[in-house]
Amino acid sequence: MIKKTYLLSPGPTPLPEEVLAAAAVPLIHHRTPEFSSLYLEVTEGLKSVFLTGQDVFILACSGTGAMEAAVVNILSPGDRVVSVSGGKFGERWAHICRAYGLDVREIVLEWGRDFPKEKLAAELGACPGAKAVFVTLSETSTGALFDIRGYGEVVSKTEALLVVDGISGLGAAPCPMDDWNVDVLISASQKSFMAPPGLAYIALSRKAWSRAEKASLPRYYFDLRKARQSLAEGTSPWTPAISLIVQQKKALDRIKNMGLERLIEHHRILGEAVRAGVRGLRLELFAERPGNVLTAVKVPPGLDGRALVKVMQSKYGAHIAGGQEAYKGKIIRLAHLGYMGGFDALTALSALEMTLSELGHPHPAGDGLRAAQDILKEKWT
Ligand code: PMP
Repeated sequence: MIKKTYLLSPGPTPLPEEVLAAAAVPLIHHRTPEFSSLYLEVTEGLKSVFLTGQDVFILACSGTGAMEAAVVNILSPGDRVVSVSGGKFGERWAHICRAYGLDVREIVLEWGRDFPKEKLAAELGACPGAKAVFVTLSETSTGALFDIRGYGEVVSKTEALLVVDGISGLGAAPCPMDDWNVDVLISASQKSFMAPPGLAYIALSRKAWSRAEKASLPRYYFDLRKARQSLAEGTSPWTPAISLIVQQKKALDRIKNMGLERLIEHHRILGEAVRAGVRGLRLELFAERPGNVLTAVKVPPGLDGRALVKVMQSKYGAHIAGGQEAYKGKIIRLAHLGYMGGFDALTALSALEMTLSELGHPHPAGDGLRAAQDILKEKWT
């Protein structure tokens, strides 16, 4: 049979046709008025997804680069910080902070568990003088969504800055930076921003900027004071990733035409459909508070999750994600993120069901797809 590939992973995600085509246009030089106007349009587009009046900076790196930029711009050696590790990406905050010699109070959650704001308030109370709190909007390793609005209420009453990894969550789940008192928000191009990997985005609140002026961790390439100065002149301090910015512009046009609210609603409907489909297959969700970016599913006892992912990929071309670290083989992750539609969700569920049959796992035939289709039929607009 013809082998088609279906990219159903939580990053990188599929690209809209006009974003693919934008990669094939001749390169322009970055020190030109033409580039400056493109650059400013893209930063404006990003602001309307971050929902901030602050500058959003475009960095030429993957999301982790923006995480490092967040740390080095707002902290000084030995500063005390709190980080919430609910999975592989939450843990990354603690790793970066330790690499810079910070005094980290790491709250380690069992993967998939929620962390209510009351618990954060108690942790902060027990950590006087904390300068920053690092959290994740959507923990991609578990599918969990965290209560950023609640954390903003807690952290804004203290001198600490709230730093949010919105790499997979922003655009798919609400996180209005200014309204929710987020001090540093980061994201990246390869998820709901519908562009290829390689760009990361970061914005600082006023409270974070006043800290950034004095912070003394070493920084050079990621010094956002330089980025701010250059942006005021319509450019970036270093050679920007021009082609990716051209592609991001096309994707932002699509997001603008659709509207952020509808984009979030789209993710909500797909999330609901996939969760219903998973339950229809009598499988269990992994996250205590699942978000609409991806759905992590517990692999039933007696079944090898790695084999599941492998068959889905090699036989059916459905590239879903497996579990990470200790959860390898124990969970699978179905993404409904960025440029994925209702039939992508049905493709994932269908390939999952066919693979369950192939691996000899009993399940009610067709119930998953039917449940997901019912939601899509009702809510597809
Ligand atoms: N945080 C989250 C929530 C992510 O989903 C990812 C990427 N999967 C990262 C951080 C790391 O981003 P990158 O791989 O782009 O450096």
